[in-house]
Amino acid sequence: MAVVVLLLLGLTACSHPAPGTLAGKSDNGTLTIGIRFDQPGLAEHTLDGRFVGFDVDVAEYVARKLGVKPENITWRETTSATRETDLTSGRVDLVVATYSITDKRKQLISFAGPYFVTGQDLLVRKNDTAITGPETLNGRRLCSVTGSTPAQEVKNRFAHAVELVEYPRYPDCVTALLAGQVDAVTTDGVILAGYVTQNPELLRVVGKPFTDERYGIGLRKGDTAGQATVDNAIQDMIAGGDWLASLQRNIGPSGYPLPAPPVVTER
Ligand code: GLU
Repeated sequence: MAVVVLLLLGLTACSHPAPGTLAGKSDNGTLTIGIRFDQPGLAEHTLDGRFVGFDVDVAEYVARKLGVKPENITWRETTSATRETDLTSGRVDLVVATYSITDKRKQLISFAGPYFVTGQDLLVRKNDTAITGPETLNGRRLCSVTGSTPAQEVKNRFAHAVELVEYPRYPDCVTALLAGQVDAVTTDGVILAGYVTQNPELLRVVGKPFTDERYGIGLRKGDTAGQATVDNAIQDMIAGGDWLASLQRNIGPSGYPLPAPPVVTER
């Protein structure tokens, strides 16, 4: 009996985390994280090659808890439509990318979180006062991003009334709005606020959110230990004050009202 117990103890002491799990991936002190490159305030790849924003801070905080220093993170661009496959193919280990927790996505991947809650809203040209909500978009052209929950929501609820134009990235929608090719852009209010800061004299957000978007951190489906680790990291980030400090620094300047911290529910 004693021999068996000793053998078992020995096995546990020497065993490495399962390959493919978050613990296994970060075992050598590195991680590959999928992030956005073009969402001001949330995640932006700056001209001098840095990554800045709230999602970047959340990703770095979680990585640190896994023993990975920021300089040992490989950042890969992920887009709305590619987040699931980026995780299932192993192209990235984690996705921190304004990624709403949905049941459909949970069929393919697992989420930790939520770490932030926002809502879908509309971005319009400042001088266009006729658009006051999604119900006023009849016959107008609305832009959103392929694979995003807002595009899906519009298809489900307003498809009969609006003409939906889809692009792979939000800045393409913003350019189309400024050029008069579309009349509104829809996605999460916190994302839209970031684009207003780039063109405050030309753009405004309607400011009447009509969905709940709970941002989760995507990881490989079924990695429950990884999920627990990331959940704990999010809770620590909130409790220790880094969560609010990052929001004040990155989102505060846009004027977007900072929400209360969410309760972490994905386990
Ligand atoms: N949060 C929404 C989503 O996950 C919209 C933002 C995005 O496209 O990343 O689809």
